[in-house]
Amino acid sequence: KVRVRFAPSPTGGLHLGGVRTALFNYLFAKKNNGTFVLRVEDTDQNRFVAGAEEYIVDCLNWCGITPDESPNNPGIYGPYRQSERKPSYRKFAEQLINDGYAYYAFDTPEDLDAKRKEIPNFQYGQASRMQMRNSLTLTLNEVEDLLAAKTPHVIRIKVPENEIVHFNDLIRGDVSFETSIVDDKVLLKADGMPTYHLAVVVDDKAMEISHAFRGEEWLPSAPVHILLWKYLGWEADMPAWAHLPLILKPDGHGKLSKRDGDRLGFPVYAMNWTDPKTGDITQGFKELGFMPEAFINMLALLGWNDGTEQEIFTLSELEEKFSIDRISKAGAKFDFEKAKWYNHEWIKQAPVNSLQLPVKAELQKAGIEISDNGYLNTIIDLIKDRCTLLPDFVAQSSYFFASPTEYDVNSVKPKWSAEKAEFFNSFAENLTLADASSAEAAFKSLAEEKGFKPGELMLPFRIMLVGGKFGPGVFDIAILLGVEETKARIAKALA
Ligand code: GLU
Repeated sequence: KVRVRFAPSPTGGLHLGGVRTALFNYLFAKKNNGTFVLRVEDTDQNRFVAGAEEYIVDCLNWCGITPDESPNNPGIYGPYRQSERKPSYRKFAEQLINDGYAYYAFDTPEDLDAKRKEIPNFQYGQASRMQMRNSLTLTLNEVEDLLAAKTPHVIRIKVPENEIVHFNDLIRGDVSFETSIVDDKVLLKADGMPTYHLAVVVDDKAMEISHAFRGEEWLPSAPVHILLWKYLGWEADMPAWAHLPLILKPDGHGKLSKRDGDRLGFPVYAMNWTDPKTGDITQGFKELGFMPEAFINMLALLGWNDGTEQEIFTLSELEEKFSIDRISKAGAKFDFEKAKWYNHEWIKQAPVNSLQLPVKAELQKAGIEISDNGYLNTIIDLIKDRCTLLPDFVAQSSYFFASPTEYDVNSVKPKWSAEKAEFFNSFAENLTLADASSAEAAFKSLAEEKGFKPGELMLPFRIMLVGGKFGPGVFDIAILLGVEETKARIAKALA
């Protein structure tokens, strides 16, 4: 039975890489009739940020990848917040001590600071543990007294010496680490909370997680987790690991960071994130005008493809086609222009009806209320090929709702000859707008009759209706505006 989890720590906005991890978990679950679990890893009280959990849930919903089990929608494996599972961890830490795989450490924060000053890159581990205050160096009585006196302490894993920890990664194949480079990570903190390392293992076991997809940045932690699975006697239940390739900066130099967005002028968060302390807003893809379908499509292709040239996939196609063996090991460069390309493609192919609500919302933000859905649909259909982001619908359509107040450079008036004005007046007088091609034919024949090349008049006509050099076919625009409005705009521009 496939059970996967997305296990974010609620420490802030959800970054592209986080959403992609969630997406790959989701796709793998769907592909295999499995269950997609959201587990909130909130055991680090210092890094906890209010509102982050809700934000994560909202992002997943916006993306259309809602978990099957989550804090809000618990299954039988709850609770789904690690802070609420606090009582379940200590016994495993103590079991590890009893079995000789972990030890109590009583070093005070001052002791540790002093060590760090004394030894650069100090690591608490096999090279140093015998010089520290812990149950490996103290006598049994001393340890019992310290515990009885409730002396603050942590529990640390005792990483074995001279061993090689192996595991099979579904993306990377056999991965191995020498234990000499692994330090004695804290498993249980002085406040009784587990660290991430203990909690992730205990909960993956308790929640019967079968496959763990997570970012490559967790690879260095993997040996600790593998050792814990083994030391707790659970090796047979260990999930299969898949460490996803990094998402790289556009130039390929290093991991895309939260700060790169501000620096390079594109969003890295799924949705707007408001820092609860400062009130600062970091912009998200959603608010910039991305469609969730396009966002998800773009993310899926950061590190995965189906082996063909196909780039546009619906979520259900992805659910059907996703496979681990097409995930690449190499990091995937993030390219904002390409992200916009996806959105443009999605807008172009979207059925008009599906764009109605988002476009209405954009128009509303710009102060344009429209109740005639039929009219709105016709407009959307006419301009959608010209829109890359949803707000483009406002710029591309505002002239349908109000006549232009400004005209583009070299516009109609200043360089206007009396003859041209005369042409437009008589064109307006006999205006009928049955369909675009007959309107165009009438325009052209009148132009020729008056001695103009139609081309000289087409652009001025557009500018009269639209205000600028953009938009779909000018006769299509006129038809939508209707005879009266078209006449009025001609008159206004000539006035
Ligand atoms: N809580 C970790 C995170 O914030 C989860 C890592 C994992 O999936 O094991 O990403």
